[in-house]
Amino acid sequence: MSIVFIGLGSNMQQPRQQLLDARCALEQHPQIALLAVSSLYQSRAMTLPGSQPQADYINGVIKLQTELTPEALLDVLQSIENQQGRERNERWGARTLDLDILLFDDLSLQTERLILPHTGIAERNFVLYPLQQIAPDLRIPGQGQVSELAANVSSEGIELLGDFA
Ligand code: AMP
Repeated sequence: MSIVFIGLGSNMQQPRQQLLDARCALEQHPQIALLAVSSLYQSRAMTLPGSQPQADYINGVIKLQTELTPEALLDVLQSIENQQGRERNERWGARTLDLDILLFDDLSLQTERLILPHTGIAERNFVLYPLQQIAPDLRIPGQGQVSELAANVSSEGIELLGDFA
């Protein structure tokens, strides 16, 4: 069994409901057990210079246990994204639902489909704040402890909304 942290984000088509539906889909998967769920946060979109302004995101983090391999779990996440109408357009573009494997046990790997730990955890308040709520002592391989990383990131553009509900 592996312990995995998933980052969830949406800024289109009722973002809060998108996250609730994704949580439900994960809960219902026979090879996945949810262990902890963060609060929901609202965060300003990261955009590339010169791109269109975007709506704020709703973000959260879920801790789960699974017997799936990292690749099989990625397949499950992508099928949930697709079921919820995910359209893939430009990089960092608006999205109905984004599900990222932040951490899979203490694996560090880089394949064509998967980078673990997920890129950019240490700089992203919308990942670190919810992650800190459910796993303050967690160590991100090569980057440090979640509570320390969260203390060092700016709180600009992020707001606590309340329960993942
Ligand atoms: P995005 O548009 O941000 O959802 O990125 C999707 C792509 O990121 C997919 O093609 C995945 O194969 C790739 N990817 C690499 N590492 C990860 C990860 N840790 N979790 C989820 N997707 C990943």
